[in-house]
Parts: sequence; C-alpha cells; structure tokens
Amino acid sequence: MDTPATMTVTTTLAGSEPGEARDRAPQEPPARPNGPPPARTRAVPEALLRGARGRCPACGRGRLFSSYLKVSPYCPDCGEELYHHRADDAPPYATILLVGHIVVPLMVLVEEIYRPEVWVHLILWLPLTLALCLILLPPLKGMLVSLQWALRMHGFDPQSPEREGPPDGVVPVVRAVRPVR
Ligand SMILES: [Zn+2]
Repeated sequence: MDTPATMTVTTTLAGSEPGEARDRAPQEPPARPNGPPPARTRAVPEALLRGARGRCPACGRGRLFSSYLKVSPYCPDCGEELYHHRADDAPPYATILLVGHIVVPLMVLVEEIYRPEVWVHLILWLPLTLALCLILLPPLKGMLVSLQWALRMHGFDPQSPEREGPPDGVVPVVRAVRPVR
C-alpha cells in the first residue's frame, strides 16, 4: 500500500527538480552600483581566510588595506563598502594576546634550560616580539573586519540603523560587472 504512494511522490519530486533548476538558472541577481546583493550568503570561514590574506571579504580579490593597517573605504574590485568596520583596538588586543602566548612560554623554556644572561634574553625576545606584532597585526585586523562583515555587524547590515554614509571626500567605487562563475 505504501510503496506505490511513496514511488508516486518520489517520481513527482524527481520530475519537478530539473524544471525548477532550469527556471532558476537564468535569473541572476541584478548588478547594483555598490556591493553584492544583500541576500548573498556570508560564510564566516571564507571571510576570515580572505581577511587573513588582506583581501576583500566579499569578493576575495580586491585589497582590504590601502596601506599597512588602513582599511580601504571601498573594495577596489567589487566596490563593497568596507568603511563600516569598527575594528578599533581589537586587532592590537588580539595581537598582544597571541604574541604573549608565543613569546612568554619560549622565554620561560629558554630560561629553564640554558639560564642565559639577561642581555641574551633582551636580544632574543625584544626583536622577536616586535617582528611578530608587526607581522600578525594586518592579518588579525583583516580577520576582525571580515568577521564584522560576515556577521553583518554595525553598518555592514543594510538594514542597520548604525549604517552611515561614506567618510567625507571618499568617492564610491562602482562595482565591476563580472561574469558569474
Ligand atoms: Zn571586493
């Protein structure tokens, strides 16, 4: 009794899928002057990887930073509004936390094993700490900005009352129309 009914349902569903896919396929989201369509999914892991590489969280192609730590107001490639970020002092905080957990255990280990003079500690750990901070700050800031973008925090949410216009004197970047892959 159940089998024919189940088969009928399965056949109907299986028959309807290709038709629906055909109907949906040509309907691409309309190109807007700025940024991707609002309905587009924002995957956190992908955004974090793009941010760590210093790339735009939306497209992964444009540079996130216009200089060492200055976030571009717009993605130069897709035009995504990046000035909505509120990274503030979170990147230095995360950097200090991470570098501290690398350098301090190493320092304790070297002290326990070799008992070197203080000047040896100074020439080992001061340059290492400085280098690690300078190396880790941009990727950590990129990840934080990308996380805010992916979670639609602050002005990254088009519906947010926090959403502000561009900073003074900043000209919006018109989104480049590219073929959808
Ligand atoms: Zn982009």
